[in-house]
Amino acid sequence: MRDTAAPEYAIEAVGLTKTYAASRKQGPKLALKGVDLAIPRGSIFGLLGPNGAGKSTFINILAGLVNKSGGMAKIWGIDIDKDPREARAALGVVPQEVNMDPFFTPMESLDLMAGFYGVPKAERRSEEILEALGLGDKKNAYVRQLSGGMKRRLMVAKALVHNPPILILDEPTAGVDVELRRSLWEYVRKLNAQGTTIVLTTHYLEEAQEMCDTIAIINQGNVVACEPTAKLLQRLNYRTLVIWPGESVAAIPDSLQPLEPVVRKDGALAVTYRTGETSIEQLLTRFRQAGVSIGDLATEEPDLEDVFVALTSG
Ligand code: ADP
Ligand code: MG
Repeated sequence: MRDTAAPEYAIEAVGLTKTYAASRKQGPKLALKGVDLAIPRGSIFGLLGPNGAGKSTFINILAGLVNKSGGMAKIWGIDIDKDPREARAALGVVPQEVNMDPFFTPMESLDLMAGFYGVPKAERRSEEILEALGLGDKKNAYVRQLSGGMKRRLMVAKALVHNPPILILDEPTAGVDVELRRSLWEYVRKLNAQGTTIVLTTHYLEEAQEMCDTIAIINQGNVVACEPTAKLLQRLNYRTLVIWPGESVAAIPDSLQPLEPVVRKDGALAVTYRTGETSIEQLLTRFRQAGVSIGDLATEEPDLEDVFVALTSG
């Protein structure tokens, strides 16, 4: 891997499709509908989408766990059809599900993995990796004696034994506690600073926002957006102010009509505004001036569903 010239893109996919064969329960499932993605080398790249969007399918095709139906994918500039072994050597994958042999110690697990990748004994860094992930004192414990968080970290360690230039984490924080999440991100950032390209999938906008410099949004097997995080968030620079009037309002005052307030079932008035253009203070003033007393209020941020609506409505 080391002597391969570094490519511009860590991962490139063109027209990637996947149809899962029909089962007794359901017909064939079109999970990827022609995915084009170029993941820049050196980035922390987020693949964001709701459950069932096709994130794991995409990852698993790259990892060689799922056969694609069509299209092309390159890992570190190497076509997965032409040289699958070499392509996958550039990849460390932490799968969504924790799956581990309970009868090995972390040290043995890592050695097995290193052997699988053909890492010579003299070049193995098992001890160092376990240490970095806070598993140094557990290296000789049985996997079944490890906590859930430790098992997750061991999954990350296993993905790193061959020192891959790309690390993929599939929903790394699903079911993970706050402390582990924090230390995992810290470690991932450190790897990235040392040059590792990071790809992570998540269905949390906040998580992608916090970690990633570039975000692709995938929905129902289609990539609906792919841009720098800041640019993506700019498109989402709106909030909704919800006001529960102190006294119920018979009709919306004329002076508030330009704000296009929506009356909710519980009598609340909801106004959606651009954060760059309008402030809550300005809105509250207008409500007061219109004679609406404010009993209670809340602001709502756009969620992933809103993101899709915003993106697909142009
Ligand atoms: P995500 O990781 O974004 O939640 P997946 O890639 O796991 O999405 O799934 C995408 C779609 O493909 C879903 O509708 C899912 O039910 C379906 N799917 C995933 N794996 C299989 C499989 N082995 N057989 C049939 N359908 C599958
Ligand atoms: Mg998944």
